[in-house]
Amino acid sequence: MVDFAAIRAQFPILDQEIHGHPLVYLDSAATSQKPQCVIDAEANFYRTINAGVHRGAHELAARSTMAFEEARAKVARLVGANAEEGQEEVVVTGGATAGLNLLATAFGNASLGRGGAAARRFALKPGDEIVVSKAEHHSVLLPFQELAYRTGATLKWFDLTEDGRIRSDTADEVITERTKVVAVTHVGNTTGAITDIAPIVRRAHEVGAVFILDACQSVPHLKVDFHALDVDFAAWSAHKMYGPTGVGFLYGKRELLEALPPANFGGSMVELAWMDQPAQYMEPPARFEAGTQPVAQVVAAGVAAEWMMSIGLENIEAHERTIAAELLKLGDIDGVRILGPRENVDRIGTVAFDVAGVHPHDVGQFIDAQGIAIRVGHHCAQPVHRHFGLYASNRASSGVYNSVEDAAALIEVVAKVRPFFKV
Ligand code: PMP
Repeated sequence: MVDFAAIRAQFPILDQEIHGHPLVYLDSAATSQKPQCVIDAEANFYRTINAGVHRGAHELAARSTMAFEEARAKVARLVGANAEEGQEEVVVTGGATAGLNLLATAFGNASLGRGGAAARRFALKPGDEIVVSKAEHHSVLLPFQELAYRTGATLKWFDLTEDGRIRSDTADEVITERTKVVAVTHVGNTTGAITDIAPIVRRAHEVGAVFILDACQSVPHLKVDFHALDVDFAAWSAHKMYGPTGVGFLYGKRELLEALPPANFGGSMVELAWMDQPAQYMEPPARFEAGTQPVAQVVAAGVAAEWMMSIGLENIEAHERTIAAELLKLGDIDGVRILGPRENVDRIGTVAFDVAGVHPHDVGQFIDAQGIAIRVGHHCAQPVHRHFGLYASNRASSGVYNSVEDAAALIEVVAKVRPFFKV
């Protein structure tokens, strides 16, 4: 049995009062809090081995390089990716948004003929199709919408069920022989719904399309194995999985990373550079990591990955399912509507809700006054809000440190919202 109360005690930020109440943090979908071991890892790096990686002949540079690559390997282990030297499948990015933009830019470069014959599989032209879903975060929708505008490709999307799940059952119609890229979320950042990606991945591969997974809201809560899921690329952020801000990861099947042209250019990604002929770029992952990397943050993200594995990913998932089941009881309050599936079978982490007649900002302020942190707004996912006939909503989201009591505290306060505003 995992002692989740002891796990909560590892988060110093949670041990404080807000507006005279003990802090209840239910905004982990925006960013998770950090355990002491992650905070220490970043500080220890600066205290002991800080140096640029992959350059410099001195001992500190060697140690920081080793710590950076060990962190990459730990993160790879978390998601079932290859980590052996020469076979790495995890690229360091500035976050999920940066990783998704990297892919869209690289595909755009391939569309201009960059990367040669090997990169042709990523090239788009007028008439080709890019498929996303209506449940996407803007960091998936917008880079691929822009890619469509730049290349003349057509943007298409999966519709949602009434309760906000991606219609995987329509994969055979939505994805056609013209589809070159498919990008969908693993877990909706508003609905909390876990996408049944298997039919989408199968169909994408049947037509030779590249499948990209937004794993931002799945990696922190579920045991995710990219090999088993057979996804081609996946992007996620360290700051939502108990790691630091400013860093994230892009998974790519090794053979695809080897074929993908670079998106960002600069130092540490080039074998040979000349004034009068094209440069020769390094093998992945270095090819995609131009410039000085956020080494301390990557090392700390590696510690976060190890820490999650030490708790056990199945244990984390089971705990979060318990919290989600509790949060879903919000829907029993008069005038409160859950956005997303009501049953607790195919959802995790996030429960967004609407309080009839009360603007989310008023709801959020009322709840904040009781020391409870949730998110209000459109959560960078406007199309899914339109699907529910709303512009904004309230969102409670969990982490390993939350308890059933946290959910109960929120429910007690939300029950008072409509009476307070007299609606
Ligand atoms: N996708 C999803 C599903 C998310 O929840 C988020 C973060 N809100 C992102 C992408 C973007 O992540 P980041 O802002 O860390 O780049």
